[in-house]
Amino acid sequence: MRLCLIRHATLKVEYQGHAFLIDPMLDDAGVRPAIQNSPNPRNNPLVSLPAPAPEVVKGVEAVLVSHTHGDHWDETAARLLAKDLPLFGQEADEAKFRGQGFVNVWPIEDSVRWRDVEISRTGGQHGTGEIGRAMAPVSGFVLRASGEPTAYIAGDTIWCDEVREALARYQPSVVVVNAGAAQFLKGDPITMTADDVLALCQAAPRAHVVAVHMEAINHCLLTRDDLAFQLEAARVRAAIPGDGEWVKS
Ligand SMILES: [Zn+2]
Repeated sequence: MRLCLIRHATLKVEYQGHAFLIDPMLDDAGVRPAIQNSPNPRNNPLVSLPAPAPEVVKGVEAVLVSHTHGDHWDETAARLLAKDLPLFGQEADEAKFRGQGFVNVWPIEDSVRWRDVEISRTGGQHGTGEIGRAMAPVSGFVLRASGEPTAYIAGDTIWCDEVREALARYQPSVVVVNAGAAQFLKGDPITMTADDVLALCQAAPRAHVVAVHMEAINHCLLTRDDLAFQLEAARVRAAIPGDGEWVKS
């Protein structure tokens, strides 16, 4: 497998010879307002795509959407993607996808098999307490196929029991985490902080960890440099790709 960070949580993943697109956010920079009640009020996305959106969706065979918050599924993605593409997501989002005209929607409760790839859904906590409940439900995905490394794309979650369980159950060789320490003016971060990423790396010392979901949405305050600095100080390795950068596993 190899994966390319497009921007934020949007990934292109080549897996078992298939081209997957994960959490497509394809709007032009600055077309959406800042997230309400959040620090650093600037229009989103903060940065442009590394390639034009039509080029990003070219050749994609299947799409995985962890949840439908605007930084994981936006209007440009819904408009540009072919309506008959296999679209995998959590059950709670099925009606939304169908309402947008998608006809090949695969809601995943636990696992589905598509071609020769097993796609499993994992849980997560998109924040703590009341905020976490308001942000729910969210999902992550595990990809498995013979001859490929098991890949866990954790989605928007903090370091929590669901993530620990997914690591224990699937023993992934590759783990993609959504960092950025996204937050509102009040309450705890709703995506992974540097400490969360560190905890995950230490809990899965043999996994190749890839940290994304930074520097593209206004309320994600943890930068790539901050994260790299804190991981280095703890002597922990993780890939922190730039937009448009391929990571091999
Ligand atoms: Zn997000």
